[in-house]
Amino acid sequence: MSSIDKLVENTIREDIRAIASYHVPDARGYIKLDAMENPYALPEHLRADLGQRLADAALNRYPVPSYATLKAKICASLGVPAGYDVLLGNGSDELISIMATAVAQQGRRAVIMAPTPAFIMFSRSAQFAGADFVGVPVKADFSLDLDAMLAAIAQHQPALVFLAYPNNPTGNLFDAGAMEAIIGALGETGIAVVDEAYQPFARQSFMGRLPEFPNLVVMRTLSKLGLAGIRLGYLSGDAKLLEQFEKVRPPYNVNVLTQVAAEFALEHLDVLDQQAGLLNAERSRLAAELAALPGVEVFPSAANFISMRVPDGERTVAELRSKKVLIKNLSKMDKMLVNCIRVTVSTPEENTAFLNALKASL
Ligand code: PMP
Repeated sequence: MSSIDKLVENTIREDIRAIASYHVPDARGYIKLDAMENPYALPEHLRADLGQRLADAALNRYPVPSYATLKAKICASLGVPAGYDVLLGNGSDELISIMATAVAQQGRRAVIMAPTPAFIMFSRSAQFAGADFVGVPVKADFSLDLDAMLAAIAQHQPALVFLAYPNNPTGNLFDAGAMEAIIGALGETGIAVVDEAYQPFARQSFMGRLPEFPNLVVMRTLSKLGLAGIRLGYLSGDAKLLEQFEKVRPPYNVNVLTQVAAEFALEHLDVLDQQAGLLNAERSRLAAELAALPGVEVFPSAANFISMRVPDGERTVAELRSKKVLIKNLSKMDKMLVNCIRVTVSTPEENTAFLNALKASL
């Protein structure tokens, strides 16, 4: 064994050494439909204005630590109820990690829970923070198994429960009444995180319900709306909870360029909302065309992606890749998702390219 291998073995946690890193394939030259990005850029005139704003940003200075202007703009334009503030993250990924770190205990290990299949960072962040992750399988139609969730909550007393609304990778919106029952059951012992990453497409939200549930926090991101590159997530909830998470947040986690670009984007939300509307129309078209294909079982989606079961998921993903179309293979993620694939809803041209490549592979 080389000395660097010995060093790794002596210093790096065993559970970290055992896992593979979060894989992001190189998409150059591909039609990229694997990461739920908005395919539309900002219009030319807005890009020029944004360029000027970025040029004026004081890159020699750390960001203003309170992020007061950006937070005020988020609260004013993104439906945060009066009296509620936000915590900012370098993407919602970082917020997930901050919350996991804040609840993980030494000694009695804390439990972090989510209905599964779920976004992978829920379990990964739990693991990295030293908490146990308990996944509670959804029903065969991907709806919440409320009885199983309530039983698991009673058994494990989770400190944190993630509910993605809509869920990734299945795309469906969970029943709001079942979500309320879970949030209620957690009461004073657990925090419910409603992850609304896909809210710009679902247009349903728990944000307005914050005053009803002191243990509820609502997490959103600018990523799917069209700003995946700037990495900005935000979390709203009771000030006393945010204050605790704030202690774990690395100082200056949101950089000056992100701050400026996000403020600019929020001034032009109408443009982004319009793009989301176009994508929703395309989602309907794509879902209808997919449903007509023999051998394809399309799952209902309220997000900017569609998941489906095909006869041979592995082969379909490989064949599409050979035709330069990149989609996500869900087969290995969860036993409920064998032969399932996920495609991001994109421009009409890219969606048609995907449909044609899929038809040829079936
Ligand atoms: N939550 C869910 C449910 C997601 O699907 C994703 C991205 N795939 C995220 C959070 C993370 O989003 P970001 O870090 O880009 O804000």
